[in-house]
Amino acid sequence: MAQSMWKPLLALVAFVVVINVVYPMVSQKGQLDKAEVPYSQFKNELARDNVKEITMKGSLLNGVFKTKVQAAQVAGKETPSKATTNFFTILPGIDDPALMAELQAKKVMVKAISTESSPFTTALLYLIPWVLIIGVWVFFARSMKGQGPGNMMGGFAKSGAKLHDSQKTTVTFADVAGMEEAKQELHEVVEYLKEPKKFERIGGKVPRGILLVGPPGTGKTLLARAVAGEAGVAFFSISASQFIEMFVGVGASRVRDLFAVARKEAPSIIFIDELDAVGRSRGAGFGGGHDEREQTLNQLLSEMDGFESHEEIIVLSATNRPDVLDPALLRPGRFDRRVVIERPDWRDRESILKVHTRKTPLSADVNLAVIAKGTPGMTGADLESLVNEAAILAARENSETVTMNHLELAKDKVLMGGERKLYLSDQEKRITAIHESGHVLVAKLLPGTDPVHKVTIIPRGMALGVTQQLPEDDRHHYPKSYLVNRLSVVLGGRVAERLVFNDVSTGAQSDLKIVTELAEKMVCQWGMSDKIGPVTFSRGEEHPFLGMKLAQEKSFSEEMAWQIDQEITVVIKDAEDRAMEILSSNRNQLEALATALLEEETLDSARIDSILASV
Ligand code: ADP
Ligand code: MG
Ligand code: ZN
Repeated sequence: MAQSMWKPLLALVAFVVVINVVYPMVSQKGQLDKAEVPYSQFKNELARDNVKEITMKGSLLNGVFKTKVQAAQVAGKETPSKATTNFFTILPGIDDPALMAELQAKKVMVKAISTESSPFTTALLYLIPWVLIIGVWVFFARSMKGQGPGNMMGGFAKSGAKLHDSQKTTVTFADVAGMEEAKQELHEVVEYLKEPKKFERIGGKVPRGILLVGPPGTGKTLLARAVAGEAGVAFFSISASQFIEMFVGVGASRVRDLFAVARKEAPSIIFIDELDAVGRSRGAGFGGGHDEREQTLNQLLSEMDGFESHEEIIVLSATNRPDVLDPALLRPGRFDRRVVIERPDWRDRESILKVHTRKTPLSADVNLAVIAKGTPGMTGADLESLVNEAAILAARENSETVTMNHLELAKDKVLMGGERKLYLSDQEKRITAIHESGHVLVAKLLPGTDPVHKVTIIPRGMALGVTQQLPEDDRHHYPKSYLVNRLSVVLGGRVAERLVFNDVSTGAQSDLKIVTELAEKMVCQWGMSDKIGPVTFSRGEEHPFLGMKLAQEKSFSEEMAWQIDQEITVVIKDAEDRAMEILSSNRNQLEALATALLEEETLDSARIDSILASV
């Protein structure tokens, strides 16, 4: 807190104390050379007509006797004072109505002084609480803005961003195992930050905001720090949840501070971790949801728009929920570049294990590739704790080295520990491999479908495996033939399971959802069913909040509804039959793909082609 703020405040308090306590004491200094007499003695003297004058101030009576009087002892007073004419006495609590009459009778001169403080003092007394309240308020407001005494109020201070001095950020790309694609993309940023002028001369276009997307523990934060370490520039990191944890209005000002500091230190990197904490779509959720988070988000957006082209600042950000981000964040000039970080495949897992065992003494029997292959779905963070567990086990046994056995035990511990982890048994892995191979093979053999880009049995989100298809061009119109084939591809996974295991599993649930929605659209919206004809029905999506149907485009009868359902079923059944036909007549290829998938976990399109060609 600014020293300058306390000073006037203290001065004011001191002033009031003086006015109210010290001044009256000093002004009644006369009291000291007066003798206090008991009230009864005063009354006696009055009766004797020995009182010349009195001054009343509340219950205090100051007075002068006509002749000297030896004051009697007053209760509680040590010594009786000497004879005096000046005296004072205290009116007893009970009022003495007779006093005034008596005083008048004896013709005593009576003066009275108001007991009230001066209006000035009164005004001050009223003001003090307000001054204090406002003072405290100003104090908080200032410290929130980051001008306050950081250590006094802890978390309020500054933007909460940590500055990692470029010299101290020792993490480099060498510490980040695997993720070659992601590193490649960020390499460009490093080049730019190292030599912005040179980069600009060549005409390189640098993205301003880069979003790192991937499941928790896959090394997003690590990668961001490595970028800073490689480039050797100032690195400001903050977790977005810190923006909004305090009081209303703090988030936005923290964002402002963060960007201001980073600008001063440019070239620099701002890293906003867990962006989804502030970046969720505005207006989502009920009531309160908006205010604080929205203000913070708006501030962030406007800071990112406010960059001048010469400012050498890169904003990195990480999230594992890109789906909930406000679209405004992803617009050009903001986080328009996305770097996707996947769970590592076994080769990457092996190199992560290598990185984390660099300083661990491993015994000769250790084969990290075996551990890597046995830990599908584990992230870098999981593997780090696996190595850590193994080292603890070794230490407990007073073993000099970490053995394969330690690693195996640690693997089980990490796998069992995280209940939510997707750990696939061998049987589950095989089912997943067959399922994904089914998608791939149908896509390969049906004409007019999107080419397969990649297939993997590394668990991702809720899915045990993923088949990625990339459309060759952006499509705007979908011919019916394309959509029908697409249905077969999506159903291919489930069909393959039925073909090989004569059973289906729950793994195909999201496939079925896609199929149902697509088939419904084909029949109801795109008029692709001959039976129903070229009409558009809105089967009324329910309003998410009001629980009522939105306006319908064409109302239809119960009977029509039944027919629509029939048609949807027919469309799906046809697609399923076609998938079954393809897979059962190419069973060898299906098995070959599945075997390769089990072995290699991920297959790219070239590898898929070579496997299919070799069968
Ligand atoms: P995220 O930010 O994606 O949740 P982190 O970057 O915090 O993940 O990763 C947690 C830890 O896991 C890191 O500190 C690092 O030790 C380890 N880790 C994750 N990915 C890797 C990797 N690719 N190479 C080396 N270590 C990794
Ligand atoms: Mg992180
Ligand atoms: Zn599937």
